Amino acid sequence: RAKAAGRNNYQFFTAAMNTLITERQQIETGLRQVLANDELRLHYQPQIDIRTGQVVSVEALVRWQHPEFGMVAPDRFIPIAEEIDMIIPIGQWVLETAMAQLAVWRAAGATELRMAVNLSAHQLRKDSIVADITNVLLKHKLGKGALELEITESVAMQYPEQNARLLAELRQHGIELAIDDFGTGYSSLSYLKLLPLDRLKLDRSFVKDIESDPNDAAISAATISMSHELGLTVVAEGVENEAQLVLLSSMGCDLVQGFYFSKPLAAEECFRFIQRNL
Ligand code: C2E
Ligand code: MG
Ligand code: MG
Ligand code: MG
Repeated sequence: RAKAAGRNNYQFFTAAMNTLITERQQIETGLRQVLANDELRLHYQPQIDIRTGQVVSVEALVRWQHPEFGMVAPDRFIPIAEEIDMIIPIGQWVLETAMAQLAVWRAAGATELRMAVNLSAHQLRKDSIVADITNVLLKHKLGKGALELEITESVAMQYPEQNARLLAELRQHGIELAIDDFGTGYSSLSYLKLLPLDRLKLDRSFVKDIESDPNDAAISAATISMSHELGLTVVAEGVENEAQLVLLSSMGCDLVQGFYFSKPLAAEECFRFIQRNL
């Protein structure tokens, strides 16, 4: 009796495990085919100059239009793509698609617009990274100030010396560099003086309760003044209401991005937004 129940439990357990493994395997198998099946899409989220109200930049954010699961968010598939070495071709597709789009928008009148692209650690470690990126810029006749790369703190500080050399080389090609999700990594601040950066993106966890939590307000204000003293500009992420905007503006924040202005949009819709706010 006990033995039978045990066996049943065991069968139940393996059945549940199989479901999990199948879903994970489905994601993996799907990811290996994602480019061949043309299932990736880019959405674009405007970054607004807080003083002029103009859209100066857009961030490219990847989505997976999965035939069964629907629109899959990047947090669900980028980590798996990194594990199975699909992030390199996916990252290259993102770069190529984003720069092709930027060239179209610039030709259509947004002549100064910049595009921000998120880079994963694996991409930064690739030997041909500088050539890969500069070839895409060349192909679309995009010069200095067209592309900004976003890397997270933890990626930036992984190999600070190598990163410093690499980022300096990218910068010589007029590629701008931003630290994404600033303030969330377990990092020291020393990488800030080592790396040739242009911008910090204040993480949205500090912006969320900036009006009600004095600690969040203090961290935001201090980050903004430190950045300015280091010669960096600041983008506040996740701005969702006017009160947050007013406070960030009083702190001297340079750029804002968030649902209060626009969520990430498909290309045509994003361009309409850009044209209204050029
Ligand atoms: P991230 O680079 O920090 O991007 C900002 C995320 O915050 C986006 O989520 C965006 O939709 C969301 N967001 C923007 N404004 C607001 C707001 O006002 N409120 C709230 N609650 N959220 C807001 P998304 O698109 O799901 O992307 C998640 C993360 O996936 C990104 O974080 C980035 O780390 C990664 N990612 C996205 N695209 C790529 C890519 O092409 N390559 C790589 N390596 N990573 C990517
Ligand atoms: Mg980003
Ligand atoms: Mg971010
Ligand atoms: Mg983030």
